[in-house]
Amino acid sequence: MTLFDLSGRRALITGSSQGIGFALARALGGAGAAVVLNGRDAGKLDAAASILRGEGMTVETAAFDVTDYAAVAAAVAGLGTLDILVNNAGIQRRAPLEDFPEATWHELMRTNLDSVFYVAQAVARGMIARKRGKIINICSVQSELGRPSIAPYAASKGAVKMLTKGMCADWAKHGLQVNGIGPGYFETELTAALVADPAFSDWLCKRTPAGRWGRVEELAGAAIFLASGASDFVNGQIIYVDGGLTSVV
Ligand code: NAP
Repeated sequence: MTLFDLSGRRALITGSSQGIGFALARALGGAGAAVVLNGRDAGKLDAAASILRGEGMTVETAAFDVTDYAAVAAAVAGLGTLDILVNNAGIQRRAPLEDFPEATWHELMRTNLDSVFYVAQAVARGMIARKRGKIINICSVQSELGRPSIAPYAASKGAVKMLTKGMCADWAKHGLQVNGIGPGYFETELTAALVADPAFSDWLCKRTPAGRWGRVEELAGAAIFLASGASDFVNGQIIYVDGGLTSVV
């Protein structure tokens, strides 16, 4: 298993006080990495950090807003060497496109797309200097598929997919691997409204070949693979962890 061993590596996971980010931090920590948890709420971060410390992991916290370019630059400068970055922080906002408020469009784009550029650029500069680094951008099945009421979210996640390929184009020659994970539907606070809607759940389970919602711990394998030496010649790819959803109509 040395191929997947992350001992001695340090990983920053944005938006990791809960949900998918927390599960990814737990996965990388479980594979031996020291993890840096991020979110805006310091209290939530401390609670998440103590859970992982209780499981024997080395954990730091860094509270900053990923949509604030100056705050990102200052935080990353203060963090020292980072071997792995997971750009995970993201939000969902639902409304018919004809009524979608302009301010909400910008909030969503800042959080889901601008932040990926801000944090990756700040972290990649150090990785380029060291000629080594792993960046994982959290995409979505909406990087490929539209759905009513979430056109801006799908646009942001489609853009993150292409930004992943662009990062590969610019940074692979410096020894970095940049890939994405496209989760299907997982039960978290972000999807709470969908989980609470039996009609949606019923539709989703019929639409997904696996016939069910995903469990966040099922993202661990793809994350460890893309963060480890096992993926050293894998670059610019998106791995969909979606129970088969994007493979069927
Ligand atoms: P979640 O439960 O709502 O968690 C979001 C995390 O991001 C929280 O820790 C939140 O902490 C943090 N965050 C939000 N805005 C931030 C900001 N401006 N700066 C720093 N941190 C911020 O969401 P999730 O379901 O785990 O989703 C995580 C990622 O997976 C997102 O990119 C989402 O689009 C993607 N995804 C989710 C699903 C799914 O089924 N759940 C499917 C496909 C893709 P604070 O609020 O304290 O800042």
